[in-house]
Amino acid sequence: MDFKFSREDEAFRQEFRQWLETNLPRDWRDDGELHDPDTKDEFERRRSWHRKLYDGGWMCIHWPTEYGGRGATLIQQFIYQQELDRVKAPPTVNFQGIARVGPTLMQWGTPEQKKRYIPKIPPAEEIWCQGLSEPNHGSDLAAVETRAVDNGDHFVVNGSKVWTSNAHHADFSTLLCRTDPSLPKHKGLSYLLVDMRSPGITVRPLVQITGERAFNQVFYEDVQVPKANLVGQKNQGWMVAITNMMFERTIHGGRTDMMVEIRQLADLAKQVERNGRPAWEDEYVRQRVVRFACEAEGLKYTSLRQLTRQLKGLPPGPEGSIMKLGTSDLNLRLQMFAMELLGAYGQFEYQAPGAIDHGKWSHRMLAARRGTIAAGTNEIQHNIIGERVLGLPKG
Ligand SMILES: Cc1cc2nc3c(=O)[nH]c(=O)nc-3n(C[C@H](O)[C@H](O)[C@H](O)COP(=O)(O)OP(=O)(O)OC[C@H]3O[C@@H](n4cnc5c(N)ncnc54)[C@H](O)[C@@H]3O)c2cc1C
Repeated sequence: MDFKFSREDEAFRQEFRQWLETNLPRDWRDDGELHDPDTKDEFERRRSWHRKLYDGGWMCIHWPTEYGGRGATLIQQFIYQQELDRVKAPPTVNFQGIARVGPTLMQWGTPEQKKRYIPKIPPAEEIWCQGLSEPNHGSDLAAVETRAVDNGDHFVVNGSKVWTSNAHHADFSTLLCRTDPSLPKHKGLSYLLVDMRSPGITVRPLVQITGERAFNQVFYEDVQVPKANLVGQKNQGWMVAITNMMFERTIHGGRTDMMVEIRQLADLAKQVERNGRPAWEDEYVRQRVVRFACEAEGLKYTSLRQLTRQLKGLPPGPEGSIMKLGTSDLNLRLQMFAMELLGAYGQFEYQAPGAIDHGKWSHRMLAARRGTIAAGTNEIQHNIIGERVLGLPKG
């Protein structure tokens, strides 16, 4: 096995690393996860970082050049993500648009839809959110109940979507809705593009345990959506939604390297005391940190296996589910261990006076749960691995 990257790929890495060194302000590193973009100021700060990447030619690198991307190879995409993880760059603002909506429209959109919507996604001129989950349907997505009734040149939509990330900043939303309730559940669905400023839409914030509002419940009351905004065929929206969800699990959305957090955990162990001595001098603490590091290395190689599979043109294997499950679970345990190290200091909130590391650990610990739910819960990933990979009987 040869883990070395080619000379061209290393040159690509150096080029992006150098660009980040020059363009990413020092005080913008390592703070991406500390605030959700729930305030206008924070959102605009992230938009300016997004624009910087875009203007430098470093946004949507995996998109084809005809759509404003770089047509980057899979290896380059992997390296790009590694470099962003390494410096802990702040998130960009149009993740749903770039990772899911744009690629879905490239595959399913009409020429008019492609021309109208795709060019405004990379520069974040239009922000997208994604209306899939509903109050009664998340894991069982094909059962969604939001209705879209055909009314000549438009649909009339009634219902509600929930956990809609960034709906409060979004210009448009994708919407999975039921256009024929008489058909079996996967067959009566359609996939629409909805202008978030349409009359009849109400966006209500959902405040998370961290105190932030990153997602919302969105209500649709007699909202008119032009027929021109139907993606794919009427009643065949499940196929479009599947495409959308497959893009959710592609490599550019996932973490490739968690060693940055583990080094920070080791630094924390050097700052705090255990039994009157630096915690780092305690064998138990060092063993726990090393165990986390071994797991992180294992996950890194799993993501490389996923990459190899893609390079060979093989169908997606178990690695996507394993990465999702492994990284979110490791992150949660790592943050809980930070709480153990901090003891009573773990109760300080983010940016509270006297808090160690500005209280970022308690924030991270509270935020870590969301990774175990978003993009298909960990229980669902267990099911996928058990049934489709290990061939176990359905639970
Ligand atoms: C940070 C975050 C951002 C999100 N952003 C969006 C977004 O932008 N747009 C959007 O549409 N949705 C979004 N979601 C919603 C997310 O996709 C759903 O929360 C997720 O799919 C689970 O659905 P649910 O919440 O309805 O839980 P349910 O499906 O009701 O599940 C409840 C519990 O039952 C378990 N469970 C359910 N079915 C099974 C089963 N068959 N076997 C074993 N256990 C099972 C689940 O694991 C879970 O623990 C987001 C969620 C989070 C946490």
